[in-house]
Amino acid sequence: MTILRVALDIPLPRLFDYTVTDALPEDVGRCVRVPFGSGEKVGVIVALAESSEHDKLKPAGEILRGMPALPTDWLALAEFCSRYYQHPLGEVMAMALPPQLRRGKLPSTRKSKLVPAAEGPPPLLPELLLEQTHAVAAVAAGFGRYAAYLLHGVTGSGKTEVYLRLIEQVLEQGFQALMLVPEIALTPQLESRVACRFPRARLVSAHSGMPAAARAKGFIAALEGNVDIVLGTRLAVFSALPRLGLIVVDEEHDASFKQHEGLRYSARDVAVWRAHQCGIPIVLGSATPSLESFFHARSGRYRLLELQRRAVAEAMPTVRAIDTRREKLQDGMSGALLTALEVRLERGEQSLVFLNRRGYAPVLACPSCGWVSRCHRCAANLVVHLADRRLRCHHCGLEEIIPKGCPSCGNLDIHPFGRGTQRLEETLAARFPQARILRVDRDSASSPKKWQALLDTIHEGRADILVGTQMLSKGHDFPRLTLVGVVGADAALFAADFRAPERLFSQLMQVGGRSGRAALPGEVLIQTEYPTHPLYQALVAHDYTRFAQAQLDERRAAGFPPFTFQVLLRAEAKKLDDSLAFLKVAAESARSLLPAGVTLYDPVPMRLYRVMTLERGQLLAESASRPALQAFLAAWAEKLYLQKAPRDLRWHLDVDPLEF
Ligand code: ADP
Ligand code: ZN
Ligand code: ZN
Repeated sequence: MTILRVALDIPLPRLFDYTVTDALPEDVGRCVRVPFGSGEKVGVIVALAESSEHDKLKPAGEILRGMPALPTDWLALAEFCSRYYQHPLGEVMAMALPPQLRRGKLPSTRKSKLVPAAEGPPPLLPELLLEQTHAVAAVAAGFGRYAAYLLHGVTGSGKTEVYLRLIEQVLEQGFQALMLVPEIALTPQLESRVACRFPRARLVSAHSGMPAAARAKGFIAALEGNVDIVLGTRLAVFSALPRLGLIVVDEEHDASFKQHEGLRYSARDVAVWRAHQCGIPIVLGSATPSLESFFHARSGRYRLLELQRRAVAEAMPTVRAIDTRREKLQDGMSGALLTALEVRLERGEQSLVFLNRRGYAPVLACPSCGWVSRCHRCAANLVVHLADRRLRCHHCGLEEIIPKGCPSCGNLDIHPFGRGTQRLEETLAARFPQARILRVDRDSASSPKKWQALLDTIHEGRADILVGTQMLSKGHDFPRLTLVGVVGADAALFAADFRAPERLFSQLMQVGGRSGRAALPGEVLIQTEYPTHPLYQALVAHDYTRFAQAQLDERRAAGFPPFTFQVLLRAEAKKLDDSLAFLKVAAESARSLLPAGVTLYDPVPMRLYRVMTLERGQLLAESASRPALQAFLAAWAEKLYLQKAPRDLRWHLDVDPLEF
């Protein structure tokens, strides 16, 4: 009798053994139905064994041989994630597989026939600029060997063109290519660009917004080797690709590559590991690389490839910081910005006013008693949404009708305080009644369809002034957009999160890059009370490297990543005391394991300590040595799984956390 070792989607760090009579070595990597509790589950066969440390094993059910086995490199990838992020292997695999497959449902059309996207003549390709040629040659010379490249180039410098040339070459050699992009919203646009470029290639996308059947079908086709290019968001990094030859991660700095629940993985980091494991090149591209990647490029771990200028537009936009300290703003806008908007209206060009805060105002308040609109489930304010007359919590979704008077003292004269996109839209409409104003944020683009409609409106020139959040900052070309105004950005300069300046810089660089992307020159005006702040100065000078270097110096002095590695243990329960008590015990058990060079801090409440009625605390461990931290973590996690906790308490580990 043989024993199957099965990874099941159960929050326990172990495998489950079952007996079986007909298993073959090639069944490793196949899905299998097994009895579990009073029901049945589908798991992945990780190994065959002769004996088990458990007794009274149950017999396994059907081995799903209708689907090819997951290859060993895929299993190794899942095992790496399980080890590195201290997350049960079965849960890792369940997350990495499309939902249908994890339930053991195979796509109905068995021989997944993928037809190339389009027929037609090969597209005309632009002649590469010198730096592009160099970048392509550098990477292509290393096909078949691991190397990580950081492709640094401003928006419009032709990074995508470089990816496409590399994909072309790798396909010609019979390999598969994997391309990761940060947002679902960006995939259709890129998909059509890739499909046009490779009319004969078999292309599939992979992102969570796809219909389940299509995703399962694409996954299996890739696994069978019947796909040439997989294009997708972070989860696409788990595509099974037997002939993988190249990985591209576009906008590698983007925070959405990191998953914030369940397996808290960074798709970029996992992609680098995967490239290393497969012995292939990986290209990480960005206009504002993450400080981690920039640091690796500096230290020689990654090779730096730079594209210094834009491929099409003549010049970079002019960036100016508008000093708002001495000016009386008109509804939050400076004279300079208003004039610039007026000029664009006269010329029939588009403008964008960027404010990264949706809603009408961040809070409703009573000036007489000091009442403010608070969410009773979260440690946060309710945001005023005047468009549908609601107060809304941006953390838990709680909605309330806007009260007529102060709920606390009855005062009828209560006001929205501060400014969000809806208020800015209202202000601009009053100021420029002749202009067509379009607000673009998560509220106005609440579905892919609405989002597409907004994009169409912009592209067809049916909008003069766009008011938008960072939704607008990514990946889109608006040829008639020549002015970007930035308001309300200063707060991020002094935020408690040490990554806030890095995010602000990249956001402003990206949003500024929306202007002047075609023949018309662009201008960026940043309203600020700190016009001489080094961050703004670096933006004015278009000098990412200066900014990144200064940030690295600060991080080194403060002992922050990338100079240290971090892991957070978080706990949440109905009562903060329970969360903190759990963390305290965890800290005590950690102390007995703590190797030299790993620092453990005290448990603290999280900054946003209450969300959805759950109260949260966290505990930070840190080390300058990743191996030391990893070794400690493995031993610690074992203890955590055994630690007693109140029933309503949940905990998780976040390795390389991005948010605190
Ligand atoms: P990025 O990805 O860096 O934003 P893209 O690759 O999308 O840049 O290029 C920006 C624009 O310039 C695109 O319209 C692209 O077709 C064009 N482009 C890129 N490289 C060249 C080139 N060598 N010659 C002419 N046009 C180019
Ligand atoms: Zn009041
Ligand atoms: Zn809430």
